[in-house]
Amino acid sequence: MATYITSDCINCGACEPECPNQAISEGDETYQIDASLCTECVGFNAHEACQAVCPVECCLPDPNNTETEAVLAARAVTLHADDAALTGKIASGTFPSRFRK
Ligand code: SF4
Ligand code: SF4
Repeated sequence: MATYITSDCINCGACEPECPNQAISEGDETYQIDASLCTECVGFNAHEACQAVCPVECCLPDPNNTETEAVLAARAVTLHADDAALTGKIASGTFPSRFRK
């Protein structure tokens, strides 16, 4: 599931700089996540970095957009093709992932 921001967002901005994929931006009403850029932090963290800093814990898995770890890992490679350390970890299966807690 891609992560999404619920209407509970208080627009504090804490999550935006934490995203390894620059998927978070300020929207009209609340901050928002571009699902095409979100990897649920697969490849970078064993948890969603946005949710970890959110004071109201409103960065949640989107029940309407379920994605597998493999899809998310492939997205991380596509988004960071020049990051040899990341692509190497993903190729060898030794990458951090919320699916492996
Ligand atoms: S879950 Fe990770 S990749 Fe997705 S928006 Fe949050 S910080 Fe960015
Ligand atoms: S950290 Fe939470 S409350 Fe703050 S902008 Fe991000 S989603 Fe909204």
